[in-house]
Amino acid sequence: MRKIYNFSAGPAVLPEEVLEQAREEMLDWHSSGMSVMEMSHRGKEFMSIADETESALRELAGIPDHYKVLFLQGGASSQFAMVPMNLLGEKGKADYVNTGQWSAKAISEARNYGSIQIAASSENDGFNSVPPLAQWHISPGTAYVHYASNETIGGVEFQWIPDLSAAAGGSKDIPLVADMSSNFLSRPFDVSKFGLIYAGAQKNVGPAGLVVVIVREDLLDIPPLAGTPAMFRYKTHADNTSMYNTPPTYAIYIMGLVMEWLKKQGGLTAIEQRNITKARLIYDLIDTSSFYHCPVNRADRSRMNVPFTLSDPGLDEAFLKQAQAHGLIQLKGHRSVGGMRASIYNAMPLEGVQTLVTFMREFEKNHA
Ligand SMILES: *Cc1c(COP(=O)(O)O)cnc(C)c1O
Repeated sequence: MRKIYNFSAGPAVLPEEVLEQAREEMLDWHSSGMSVMEMSHRGKEFMSIADETESALRELAGIPDHYKVLFLQGGASSQFAMVPMNLLGEKGKADYVNTGQWSAKAISEARNYGSIQIAASSENDGFNSVPPLAQWHISPGTAYVHYASNETIGGVEFQWIPDLSAAAGGSKDIPLVADMSSNFLSRPFDVSKFGLIYAGAQKNVGPAGLVVVIVREDLLDIPPLAGTPAMFRYKTHADNTSMYNTPPTYAIYIMGLVMEWLKKQGGLTAIEQRNITKARLIYDLIDTSSFYHCPVNRADRSRMNVPFTLSDPGLDEAFLKQAQAHGLIQLKGHRSVGGMRASIYNAMPLEGVQTLVTFMREFEKNHA
């Protein structure tokens, strides 16, 4: 057992069992005589690791056959460019929903490639909520609609999947694109409602660098923008089962171990229940205290990233220092918002959250 609980927003905590298994297999994977890092990506050993990782993901998320799973590099940030390069097509325009800093990054990158409209925004309320579908305006001829299902910095999470046929100007034929980096596999989700989903691995499924893309096959027929490099075309990777070039082999292997761990936990329905329990423990404490405060609209609060402030910011440093002494680390809020942030992804054990809540109560008692 490790002695700390790591509340980092990413790279983030991984299941201890996964790290132990990786340690055991480090020098000699399944009597192959090789570390996974040393294997040819085209050899039968690594091919079996990649295949099993994909099929475990497909099973966990219930991914239909007409969707491709791609294991790419460059993190979720590379998708901010790859999505418009590949999906704008001759329409040349797309709609984005703006719920905070990650949405904004995706929007500003997409603007390099086409005409980008804001379908809805929560800017007026300080990005502390999700704009209800009744406020969305989909522009005519849009190639797709993009949103971030969980704003890792603001702690704002969609508790619903947008139904574009119910939005003004929308229709069910418009592909829905989601940046799921920080809540991927934290709950069940219906893949068939999306055109494309992407998720950087380092929040919930593995090491940084790897980004998982789930894309509906018909979208691969859209011609990419002229000049799109081979490495930035989804079709390149789909046609070569993510082996066009050397994929991030070790990261895929670790992700495979995390998929097996998730299955052992009982899959996404079971992990969702645990995530609800963990998040509720912290939010209940915050809401019954005048010492701690969370600015996010209750209905839109993230189960993965809990931002909170102390009533006296002058106590921030003491809070962080004493938390650290209790083995509770990486609680400092994002530099842009200050305060605290507890990231409690799938791999954060319930005991970690209980320890945090006990510490927060005690700190309040001593300083209120
Ligand atoms: C972390 C994060 C990203 C960026 O991921 P990188 O791997 O650093 O590129 C993008 N979107 C969301 C929602 C994130 O949480």
